[in-house]
Amino acid sequence: MKIWLDGELVDESAAKISVFDHGLLYGDGVFEGIRFYNRRVFRLEEHIKRLFESARAIVLELPWTPEEVCKFVVETVAANGLDDGYIRLVVTRGSGGLGLNPYLCKRASMFIIAGTISLYPQEHYENGLSVITCATRRPAPAALMPQVKSLNYLNNIMAKVEAIQADALEAVMLNEQGYVAECTGDNIFILRDGVLYTPLVSDGALDGVTRRVILELADQLGVPTVEKSLTRYDLYICDEFFLTGTAAEVIPVVAYDRRVIGTGKPGEITKRFIAAFKELAGSTGTPID
Ligand code: PMP
Repeated sequence: MKIWLDGELVDESAAKISVFDHGLLYGDGVFEGIRFYNRRVFRLEEHIKRLFESARAIVLELPWTPEEVCKFVVETVAANGLDDGYIRLVVTRGSGGLGLNPYLCKRASMFIIAGTISLYPQEHYENGLSVITCATRRPAPAALMPQVKSLNYLNNIMAKVEAIQADALEAVMLNEQGYVAECTGDNIFILRDGVLYTPLVSDGALDGVTRRVILELADQLGVPTVEKSLTRYDLYICDEFFLTGTAAEVIPVVAYDRRVIGTGKPGEITKRFIAAFKELAGSTGTPID
């Protein structure tokens, strides 16, 4: 596997980061997860725009333009000869002292991995997922801005531990006020009486690229959408429930806190979203060559 690291495509064994890198020492950095289908990178510019916005919000300066970063991503995918897969792009603050001060880090480091990912077993895409509410809360926006896709994922990892310990594969995380925020790596959608609802970004959800795609597809499918604060009650009584994310794609939820959702099978409207998403992802995007 060839890894793009600070301007060069190197062998996996040569792709090394300093132990003094603040991404490792403090989780000081930002990242993106991007998919490619049929040798086309899905929503590449949108992901890179979000990356630059995340970086800007944490005062992390990238020594490349968004156009250059898009080119590096395409080069990395091309160098690895995959038709379909998942890209992990990480920007760290770079090497600095052992103290927190980010201004002592001279230059940001960036690496790009083009590989594959499988978030949930395939059977759950067909039969649906069981999820639970976890005790671990999303940090308040004043503590960690939810729009920033930072390297600080310990909160989500603790939520994932709770899910696995409860024999579930995914956890719904609430915010400090008790409103539904998101899952550990996915955005949440529910359908109730034909209306599609998703939590507000300001309630602690990432402004997911797949979330935006679903809201666009809803317009095309004639499904009305509402972004609002949701409670567990809204999720308990919904007709259909699904999760979205670049790695997860679109996956139905059929049980929540051991309550059956809808008919206990993936919902009909959810299936239409899955099909529309597949169609769009498989036919659009930045070509690899
Ligand atoms: N929430 C979190 C916490 C995530 O890590 C992700 C995955 N990037 C998402 C939501 C979904 O976002 P996207 O559709 O942009 O991948």
